[in-house]
Amino acid sequence: PSTPVKVTVTGAAGQIGYALLFRIASGQMLGPDTPVELNLLEITPALKAAEGTAMELDDCAFPLLRGINITDDATKAFDGVNVALLVGARPRSAGMERGDLLEANGGIFKPQGEAINAGAADDVKVLVVGNPANTNALIAQSHAPDVPAGRFTAMTRLDHNRALAQAAAKLDIGVDEISKMTIWGNHSASQYPDLFHAMADGKSIASQVDQDWLENTFIPTVAKRGAAIIEARGASSAASAANAAIDHVATWVQGTPEGDWTSAAVVSDGSYGVPEGLISSFPVTSDGTEWSIVQGLDIDEFSRGKIDASVAELGEERDAVKQLGLV
Ligand code: NDP
Repeated sequence: PSTPVKVTVTGAAGQIGYALLFRIASGQMLGPDTPVELNLLEITPALKAAEGTAMELDDCAFPLLRGINITDDATKAFDGVNVALLVGARPRSAGMERGDLLEANGGIFKPQGEAINAGAADDVKVLVVGNPANTNALIAQSHAPDVPAGRFTAMTRLDHNRALAQAAAKLDIGVDEISKMTIWGNHSASQYPDLFHAMADGKSIASQVDQDWLENTFIPTVAKRGAAIIEARGASSAASAANAAIDHVATWVQGTPEGDWTSAAVVSDGSYGVPEGLISSFPVTSDGTEWSIVQGLDIDEFSRGKIDASVAELGEERDAVKQLGLV
């Protein structure tokens, strides 16, 4: 058996962590031939709960699971890490200003970026799930100067999957009949799910639905789906978020299929007018190692306005964390 891949999950005792760890350990993220070692990072008061999750992981007797380490020390958690899933974040509490939220998260993602810089394996891949995910990823990335910036990503795959599901239901087709879906911008209410490039039955999906549905039903349904789930379930969308994290990493390591792409927030190289350095969602392909932004797509005026608005929000978040000295 090969050397296990070291996977670190932060916020491991939380809801998403609980939905995520069992799937990683069973091989659904890295494949049925890849043994894994799990590092669970938690804040001190949640260590005991993380131990409980680890007991359950033991009790699954997963053949691929070669070890579990639980710690509240980021340096230990990221030592030798190959895949880092940064799930734990400071949630916005009632009355909290955005600046306070960004500052609290800076206190989490700055030291984690530093610990990744100091100890991660050369091939480390980082996915930030904890919100505000794009800007948290930017904070971590800017404190890891020795790690190629492209290794830091933030999750928009859940938004992507939600867009696939909504479009498939509208067209009454399977999600697997849709290709080239894209989420642009920030993982926030300003995100832009793009049906102009998404294809079904050889045609753009935008050409098969009316603009009113696209603008006034599809986009807000995708963007506000998290709130709708909280409203319905009385709890946040942890299982689908964990599923999307699994999808993101699985696509990264397996590569995207020929003729298709996916969505991920990656460091901008200036493509599509997104300022260089912002971590923004794009149509991306993976060759199994690196993400590349799909180039050369025509952006119509409607899409341009939506992308610009979401990217402007990311710029404001970057300015705010800059002012706080976090990037
Ligand atoms: P969850 O596991 O439900 O969520 C964790 C993070 O994922 C939140 O920032 C949440 O954002 C975000 N998220 C992204 N997409 C989604 C989605 N679709 N649905 C729901 N959440 C989404 O939170 P819990 O409170 O259950 O658990 C968090 C854990 O993290 C706790 O155990 C806490 O102790 C830990 N923690 C660990 C840290 C560390 O390891 N250093 C630091 C901070 C916290 P949003 O808040 O916007 O929903």
